[in-house]
Formats: sequence, structure tokens, C-alpha cells
Amino acid sequence: QEHLLRAPFLARLYGTEASLQKEDLTTEGNSFKGHDMLAPFTAGWQSNDLDPLVIEKSEGSYVYDINGKKYLDTLAGLWCTSLGGNEPRLVAAATEQLNKLPFYHSFWNRTTKPSLDLAKELLETFTASKMAKAFFTNSGSEANDTQVKLVWYYNNALGRPNKKKFIARAKSYHGSTLIAASLSGLPALHQKFDLPAPFVRHTDCPHYWRYHLPGETEEEFSTRLAINLENLILKEGPETIAAFIAEPVMGAGGVIPPPATYFDKIQAVVKKYDILFIADEVICAFGRLGTMYGSDKFNIKPDLVTVAKALSSGYLPIGAVMVSPEVSDVIDSQSSKLGSFSHGFTYSGHPVACAVAIETLKIYKERNILDQVNRIAPKFQDGVKAFSDSPIIGEIRGTGLILGTEFVDNKSPNDPFPPEWGVGAYFGAQCEKEGMLVRVAGDNIMMSPPFIMSPEEVDELISKYGKALKATEERVK
Ligand code: PLP
Repeated sequence: QEHLLRAPFLARLYGTEASLQKEDLTTEGNSFKGHDMLAPFTAGWQSNDLDPLVIEKSEGSYVYDINGKKYLDTLAGLWCTSLGGNEPRLVAAATEQLNKLPFYHSFWNRTTKPSLDLAKELLETFTASKMAKAFFTNSGSEANDTQVKLVWYYNNALGRPNKKKFIARAKSYHGSTLIAASLSGLPALHQKFDLPAPFVRHTDCPHYWRYHLPGETEEEFSTRLAINLENLILKEGPETIAAFIAEPVMGAGGVIPPPATYFDKIQAVVKKYDILFIADEVICAFGRLGTMYGSDKFNIKPDLVTVAKALSSGYLPIGAVMVSPEVSDVIDSQSSKLGSFSHGFTYSGHPVACAVAIETLKIYKERNILDQVNRIAPKFQDGVKAFSDSPIIGEIRGTGLILGTEFVDNKSPNDPFPPEWGVGAYFGAQCEKEGMLVRVAGDNIMMSPPFIMSPEEVDELISKYGKALKATEERVK
């Protein structure tokens, strides 16, 4: 009966499923139906009934599908292609390194020049607190798994074997390996995967619009969340809590910037109980928020930092962990005692990925990438936020070059649209039809354009957003 009740809603929004395929999506005509890939974060009708959107080429802020259709890529791939789709200097850096030394590892005190050089360059970019060492991984997930191992190793070295629990936040995203998914606060990453791992606790999501009490200011909301965090620490026993991990602006959980005074209050609590602070800067680093790091923007002084994505403009897989002198000194002396620090990946410090990352950091510096971001960010933020009055939008939120839109009924966080209406999916499909790609997660829409986007492309983004919104409003109301 439930199914029967849902059918009219689906029909109202989508027409028939066939019409959704033919009219609303643009992927018909390719031959990838029933493809052989078990696709990440893809499910149900998306993979089984519809052809995937196959991207074949990229150019600046645009990507092209296999049929030649052009899309403005407002998510910069997956929040990563900061320098756009065809930066020749990155291709040249990769080619040169491939010709010289396509691979050598960094185990057993052997390494390569690009990995040594990148470690130096990367550490210099981080100034919010002192960082002494960098460890390279292939991804943000591996980097966050590495964070957990580093922190455990550190506490074992200090003779604190019980100080092992991690506190992360509801709606955070820290990756999808076993440990990174455990840290993440998104139920879909846990369900049916037997996660989270038992050493992880989750505290409040700092989303003021959704969770504040009637009459509560942002500052009061932040105070309440800091008190809740302290209560959680006291309940668990401070001697059992090793680290707190947070994204400066939450990304995949729906783009959630912190409320006023949040990080000041949270850091005070964490410090009080000798708990390490890990800044997961995988999305925020290198300029996305208009500062080099999210830590700079929110006055975060982390002990450990995770980066990936824009480190290589997404051109090659690479992530990194940066470690404070206090932590790295302990790790150094412990590993000397044990004979080795027995953690690493074949491709830790892969020379080609490092060469591309070095060139990426060089380009950020030479082109004053922060100025570039700060030039277009107000246009992007103001232009999209001008749609906040839409009757189907609850909140548009963001800063710098990251923005989230949340669709709700009656402008209220307590009135979500029935999930089976697929309001977010419909909006995403309309964008696609208009020639623009956004990230859809339920009724949340996310955008994080390349840093190199031009003002004209921002205008195009706003115009396409407006058209897709109008079509969605007409379909819903
Ligand atoms: N941390 C954050 C904040 C992320 O946004 C992501 C990916 O989106 C990750 C970690 C995981 O990175 P990766 O997908 O490279 O494993």
C-alpha cells in the first residue's frame, strides 16, 4: 500500500521513469547500460536502470561527455580539480617525471627527490600551527586511517594505552576505508558495513540552521555544542579519548560552515583534556575558502592535518598527513626503539604524483590563487544566495568557493520533502539538462567550482542554477 501511495508522488515529479531517462537525463545513446563496473557511491536505479554519464574530456571549468555534450563542472570533479581540466604545466610535470623516474618507493630510508621536495613545500604552506613532518598516501581516506595509526602509536609510546578513542561529528565525511568511514558521521557509510568501529564516538553536527533551539544565537549554539562535547569526554573518561577530528567546513555532509565561535570553544575543550586536534582539510586546503587552509580561516591550531584532492588538483592520486613537532618527535623516538615505523604504502610519495603536486603548489603561488578565489567567491556566493527566497529552499550556505543548497518544504528544517519525491535528484537532472554538473545527496545540492573559474563562468553557473530551480519549483508546487 505504501508503494501505491508513493507512485503518484513519483509520477508528479518524474513523469514516468522512462520520461526521466529520456527527457531529464542526457546519457541516452551510449552503450554502457549494464556496465561491468561496481561503481562507487552508486545504487539502485542509478546504476541498474540508467546509462551512466560517461565523461571523456575536460577543459578549464568544463567537462564533456562521450556524446560531446559540454557541462560546467561546478564540483571540480569531486571537489578536487582546482586548476581546472587541462592545466598543461601539470601534464608536463607528470610527463617529465614519467620519463625520468616513473616509480621508486620511500621505504627503508630510500626515497625520491620529488617526495622530499614536496614534503618541504607542503609543510611551508601550513602556518596556522607548526608542522614538522609530512607522510604521503594515495588518498584522503588513507591519510585519515594513517592519522588514527599515528595517534595510537603516539599514545602507546607515551605509555597511555587506554587513550585510543576518537571523537568525530555527525554528518562529517572523512573517507570510505574502514577507519575513515567509521570516523565519518553519515549513516549510509555505516549501515550494512558493521561500522563504525568501536573506538569511534560522534558528537553534534554544528549546523546552526537545522539544530539550534528557538531563540538560541549562533554563539549560544556553539557554547551548547562545546558543553555537549565536554560531557561526552567526561562520560567516556578523558583518559580514553585520543583525538578529535573535524573538517573546517563540512563538505559531503551538506556544506556546513561552522557557527560563530564554534572552533574557539571546541578547541578549548579538546585542549583541556589533552586530546589531539586533527584538521581534515581534504576539501578546504589550498584556497577553497579564500584562505590557504580552513585552519587559517577559523583560527584552528591543529596537531595533525589531512590533505588530498587539490594537493595535485586531482590530476594524480595523492594525500598527505602533516604532523606537529610534538607528535612527530614521539613517533621518531618510538620508531627508533622499535627499529622502524612500520606503516606505509607502495605508492607513499609516488614520484609522479609528487612532481604534479609540487607543480600545483608552485602554480598556486605564482598565480596568487587566493586572490583569484577571493575575486570570484563573492559573485558566486551572492549570486547563488540570491535564490534563498525560493519556497522550496530552506538554506543556501557556504563561504569562498564552496556552497550547499538544502531543499525543504515551508522553509523549515523540520519539513523535509518526502524522499521519494526526489526533489534534489530532479534539480540535479535539470542542471544536467542545462549543461551543468552539481553534487546531489538527497535534497542537498553541493558545489565547489575550480579555483580558476572566470567571472563569466560564474554568471553561467548562476543562470543555469536559476533555470534548474525554476523547473524544480514548478514540478514540486
Ligand atoms: N576527508 C574529506 C573531508 C573528504 O571530503 C574526503 C573525500 O571527499 C575524504 C576525506 C576522503 O578522501 P578520498 O576520497 O581521497 O579517500
